Amino acid sequence: MNFKQVLKQIKKYNEIVIARHIGGDPDAYGSSIGLKEIIQYNFPNKNVYVAGAPSAKFRYFGDMDRVPDDVSNALLIVTDTPDRRRVDGVLPTDFKYRIKIDHHPFVEKFCEIELIDNTASSASQMIIELAFKCKLKIPYSAAEKLFMGVVGDTGRFMYSYTTTKTFDLVSKLIKNTNLNFTSLYPQMYLRSYNDYKFNAYITNNLVITDNKLAYLKITNDVLKENNVDASTAGNLIETFNNIEEILVIILCSEDLANNQIKCSIRSRGPIVNEVAARFNGGGHALASGAKPKSFEEVDELIKALDEVCADYLK
Ligand code: AMP
Repeated sequence: MNFKQVLKQIKKYNEIVIARHIGGDPDAYGSSIGLKEIIQYNFPNKNVYVAGAPSAKFRYFGDMDRVPDDVSNALLIVTDTPDRRRVDGVLPTDFKYRIKIDHHPFVEKFCEIELIDNTASSASQMIIELAFKCKLKIPYSAAEKLFMGVVGDTGRFMYSYTTTKTFDLVSKLIKNTNLNFTSLYPQMYLRSYNDYKFNAYITNNLVITDNKLAYLKITNDVLKENNVDASTAGNLIETFNNIEEILVIILCSEDLANNQIKCSIRSRGPIVNEVAARFNGGGHALASGAKPKSFEEVDELIKALDEVCADYLK
């Protein structure tokens, strides 16, 4: 893994834009904003921007920047994003040079340097490793964001790609910055009472097949009745990870504004990202998303996942 090559390019450019994937999650925000703050702290004369849409839910990570109109001489660093179409807010081809730092399974090459480690728990873990390997100082606020990124993608160090390397890097991060990490959890895990009520709606309405696939199709009318939006179900999906009768869960919310159905998928065994990729989606082996265009396509996706579960149970 050539972190030094990345440092060499960072040193070379005065204007640097950092982007992450659309529909950002804590790892996407944590890795991109954490890296921005590290670069700014170590190279105060550089102009560094984070690109992409802001999210009300993740506003505790900080603000997004207005990216300059002309980036033809700038460096682009994309974190947590395996493919061009999922890059939020910028066009990679507009930049002079591109670097990818990602932990997803490989999808396509679109950067001159591609630092990919699909054994890393998170892109945030890779940014921590980059900082230590390149002897870059990590300011306190970057440590907070990177810690939250790792915590988000590992489910608080629970999922299988949490390794000794994850613990080593995070432990060093906490020691070096004297990070008060327990103070970060409330902003990540506090939920509104309304969200909990919607969680109960999901629990009560899930359909569970003989093959242990749980699914729920949520129309825009149901979202409105429950006063939630198309992202809420996906944000709650981790709470269904430990139900004995469920191996794979898919929650599908109608997203009228974008004319698609937003689907989040989680698995405790069967590989789901290959199926997701057939329905305008992708992601990790056990945590994926998809965006079919209609509920008819959602039915096909559910059927395909049920078959994956059936094969797994055999
Ligand atoms: P989510 O359910 O949105 O938290 O997504 C879980 C994982 O799947 C993340 O790694 C996402 O980047 C990825 N993912 C979600 N939606 C899509 C999509 N439509 N296409 C490709 N990857 C996705």
